[in-house]
Amino acid sequence: MTATTHEGVLFGNRFARELPELAVPWQAEPAPAPRLLLLNEDLAGELGFEPAFLRSEDGVAVLLGTSVPEGATPVAQAYAGHQFGQYSPRLGDGRALLLGEVTDVRGQLHDIHLKGSGRTPFSRGGDGRAVLGPMLREFIVSEAMHALGIPTTRALAVIATGRHVQRDDIEPGAVLTRVASSHLRVGSFQYARATDDLELLRRLADHAIARHFPSAAGAEAPYLEFFEQVVAAQAKLVAQWMLVGFVHGVMNTDNMTISGETIDYGPCAFIDAFDPEAVFSSIDHRGRYAFRNQPPAAAWNLARFAEALLPLFAEDEAEAIALAERSVSAFGPAYEDAWNAGMRRKLGLDDEGDSEASDRLVAELLALLQKSGADYTSTFRALSAYVRGDRAPALAAFGEAAPSFRTWAQAWLALAPNAGAMDQVNPVYIPRNHLVEEALAAADADDLQPLADLLQVVTSPYDIRTGRERYAAGAPADFGDYRTFCGT
Ligand code: AMP
Ligand code: MG
Repeated sequence: MTATTHEGVLFGNRFARELPELAVPWQAEPAPAPRLLLLNEDLAGELGFEPAFLRSEDGVAVLLGTSVPEGATPVAQAYAGHQFGQYSPRLGDGRALLLGEVTDVRGQLHDIHLKGSGRTPFSRGGDGRAVLGPMLREFIVSEAMHALGIPTTRALAVIATGRHVQRDDIEPGAVLTRVASSHLRVGSFQYARATDDLELLRRLADHAIARHFPSAAGAEAPYLEFFEQVVAAQAKLVAQWMLVGFVHGVMNTDNMTISGETIDYGPCAFIDAFDPEAVFSSIDHRGRYAFRNQPPAAAWNLARFAEALLPLFAEDEAEAIALAERSVSAFGPAYEDAWNAGMRRKLGLDDEGDSEASDRLVAELLALLQKSGADYTSTFRALSAYVRGDRAPALAAFGEAAPSFRTWAQAWLALAPNAGAMDQVNPVYIPRNHLVEEALAAADADDLQPLADLLQVVTSPYDIRTGRERYAAGAPADFGDYRTFCGT
């Protein structure tokens, strides 16, 4: 790694150097009239950047990738992927580049990634560009996820490029500068495996182990241990999605990271009412990635990951398959444990208590939520109020199901739930679909204030702010069905 710093930040090109077979050196396209619209100053600070520098013309050029800092080697990453179950051997960064890695103030390595930076050898028919609305949307939702304590890529900046981009209409072009602990995906391993170059596959696994699961390197069977740690990370991640009501929407194997961070905020959305069948994506016709299908979808992706890693598990194929099957099957119990523990915390119950009783209470509550159509997020805050003796909000939330709720609550209160603990895990504010749309519509009309207001509440999601009641409420009755889009 080079020791040269750029404005105090150390840039490297570790991925490009260690895995040239998966990295096509490339350049970001120039932006005709760049305008920095959003800068995440906290994140900039964590990475060691001076916000004032990033706001300068030179800084914006770094955020766009049009000026390459010393030490960085921008590349388009190659990866494959199963998209809605269909295998594509060559996807790759069609409209993005890995600018390089930076070492943050604590010595941690992060990818600096540019989404919307122009055509690459992986663009196929696409224009390589991104448009403003979806990039602002990713900024809001990924930063909200981070504030909710859910592993995720982060958003450093959104820059309007000044270019007009053809979609259904002409849209303003934009680049999102994204930060991640890496952009290694299940699809990266599928690509490496398909080359039949076992040495490359091993090098990729070693790279991933060093970056994300260094303890696996010392294990007796390092690659199996690595795989199992990824299974555990994904199980925890998806449990967190389920607990907060997040529907990713496009869990293709190229959109599942090895680090266990949420990536690719295209068609994602949060549920309002609790609905296991919720699907928002306009292209997910069969509900493959419906809310309740997310855990099995993750397990399916991990099975594809295991297939890619097979030769590293054991020389004998039958033995490798047996090992892989055993390790994949750990997903279910790991997921259940994480989800059950999370649900107990949402209900203010400690882990020591009678878990059968609390699991039953959880199942009954979810059935009541579904039946009543109560808002998922706000009802959990109404429940802590209920514990404190303020009963009206919960009774109102359950409407006609209030009598059943009262009966349920009697059994729950008998377990002495901790209201204070509940308020630390049940958010007041999530990026609700109607609020996101409202903020994006205002941004489209050049008013960034609603977006700033929304960002403020969702990035401190557990703290009630007076005057912001509207942001805590469910969708208005006339909001209707919500549709989301990817590849926009
Ligand atoms: P995504 O839906 O963002 O996961 O993208 C799936 C694949 O399509 C990736 O290989 C992307 O790089 C590619 N892609 C999406 N949008 C574009 C675009 N506008 N131009 C070129 N490639 C794109
Ligand atoms: Mg993707």
